[in-house]
Amino acid sequence: MTRRTIMALTALIAMAVIFTASAYFYRMRTFRRTDYALNTVITITASGSGAEAAERAAIGEIRRIDAAFNAHSQTSELAKLNGSPSGEWVHVSDELFALIEKALKISAKTDGAFDITLKPVSDLWAINTENPRVPSDDEIANALGKTGYKNIALDRDKCAVMFKKDGMELDLGAIAKGYAADRAAAIMRKNGIKSALLDLGGNVFAIGKRADGKKWCIGLQTPYKQRGQYFKKIYIEDSAAVTSGAYERCFTENGKMYHHILDPKTGMPSESKIKSATVVCPDSALADALSTAVFVSGEDGVEKIAKNFKNLKITVLLNDGRVMEY
Ligand code: AMP
Ligand code: MG
Repeated sequence: MTRRTIMALTALIAMAVIFTASAYFYRMRTFRRTDYALNTVITITASGSGAEAAERAAIGEIRRIDAAFNAHSQTSELAKLNGSPSGEWVHVSDELFALIEKALKISAKTDGAFDITLKPVSDLWAINTENPRVPSDDEIANALGKTGYKNIALDRDKCAVMFKKDGMELDLGAIAKGYAADRAAAIMRKNGIKSALLDLGGNVFAIGKRADGKKWCIGLQTPYKQRGQYFKKIYIEDSAAVTSGAYERCFTENGKMYHHILDPKTGMPSESKIKSATVVCPDSALADALSTAVFVSGEDGVEKIAKNFKNLKITVLLNDGRVMEY
């Protein structure tokens, strides 16, 4: 081999190495996409080939779920069900039926702390609007008369739902973000993504590990402190981590603070001594619903919830500053 041939071959090999390495690093590049849906900011971070397209598909799925299950839009499938009179069977999609059925099972296993029938009461408080207010006792008593998860009947064969009381309305706000995260993650996995973090306003779902091979680190926000001040860090992979806290949506009237998580027994913002409740499990819809239920159930109820469900990790920050794990 001549010296010239050796030099040419060396250059060729070097080029091939550079090409392969850059193709590898391109494939492992991390893409981040931020969007707004389900009344919250959504951030998806993913690496691997096709990450950008997978994120686009995931956002599309989240928007579809928002359009179908938003109780406050006039055109959603849920809004149509909400307008229905008592005693009438309403045919719904398989997907809405399954989500309502799941929600009712969770209600039964949390002693009714999680209850999707609270919309007549939460509408009175109007906390998710620009004009929240404290309703009168009479108003709350009247609205509570239109609630109760046991007042929903389901017919699985006909895929139909019936309200047993007049004026009943469902609000999936405490489970929909978790459900959307499950669906979006499934779509990303189907697109071949093996490493991603989906954050739907505090409903976090981790696919696999980070690109550097470490578990995803999730900071648990210290309530009423600047964003990013954490009281604890947890590490997850292939799992959801969902937090419910009074600090997320609240208002003050006559010096008293009122928040968005209601106690179904009283129709008032829950006064359990829990400041923040985080549930970690692979089922994000369940984690979402249970974070709300744990918040309402307080220190006594949380142990019962932990026993009633498998494969859960619950972290609770109490008003007195104690951090409890179950
Ligand atoms: P989350 O932020 O997941 O805890 O859900 C809170 C939202 O769910 C509220 O903004 C209400 O729309 C609704 N909600 C409030 N209290 C409850 C409850 N006890 N069970 C189910 N949904 C609730
Ligand atoms: Mg929730």
